Amino acid sequence: MFRKMLTLSFDDGTVQDRRLIELIDKYNLRATFNLNSGFFGRKHCITHSGFNVCHDEIEASEARSLYRNHEVAVHTVSHPNLKKVQSDGEIIRQVLDDHKALTELTGKEIFGMAYPCGGDCYDERVIKLISESTHVRYARTTSSHRTFALPENFMTWHPTCDQRDDDLFELAERFIAAEPTEDMLFYVWGHSFELDKPDKSWDRFEKFCETVSAKRDIIYMTNGEVYNYITKNRK
Ligand SMILES: [Zn+2]
Repeated sequence: MFRKMLTLSFDDGTVQDRRLIELIDKYNLRATFNLNSGFFGRKHCITHSGFNVCHDEIEASEARSLYRNHEVAVHTVSHPNLKKVQSDGEIIRQVLDDHKALTELTGKEIFGMAYPCGGDCYDERVIKLISESTHVRYARTTSSHRTFALPENFMTWHPTCDQRDDDLFELAERFIAAEPTEDMLFYVWGHSFELDKPDKSWDRFEKFCETVSAKRDIIYMTNGEVYNYITKNRK
């Protein structure tokens, strides 16, 4: 019996995660939230693809209860492009200190990560340092492959697509209709603050959640649960 697994991953821990979590809990989906412990409680706005959006990060005191139904993972202390960080020790510190802060905050075991700063933000040196010197066992990239293939290398775990992807609903329909001949994974990532942009993004994402929810042959998992399932079965 092959599995059809669906997982979500959201970065930066902004206040829009509250509304996002209400939504994904309503549809019984599961997600992983990648947080920067150095930015808890910061208040600021950013310009994102032409729109000015609020990028306030949630307070540390809220993290434990807000993310209780989901997985929390490392996104480094202060979101540097790790490939550009010269000091090996600083790369390890960015991961270890974030891991420690998030573990203390949530009381959960943390072993996942998403690389900060998008596409060109990691290389062999970064991967080796993190694999050998931290608790991180998997790390997500932002390189979409638009398939339902399982990751070949967990330290460069490429997602199916961004939640903004034009093909999001086509991929969803294909995944729902699929009769698996091997394990399949639909992996969608994004940022909750993007959903605040004035183009009905929340409505679109809710429609996506509704579309993929409550299917008897789909298992809704956090990234870490997918990792545990795959590594157990590959042994
Ligand atoms: Zn980020």
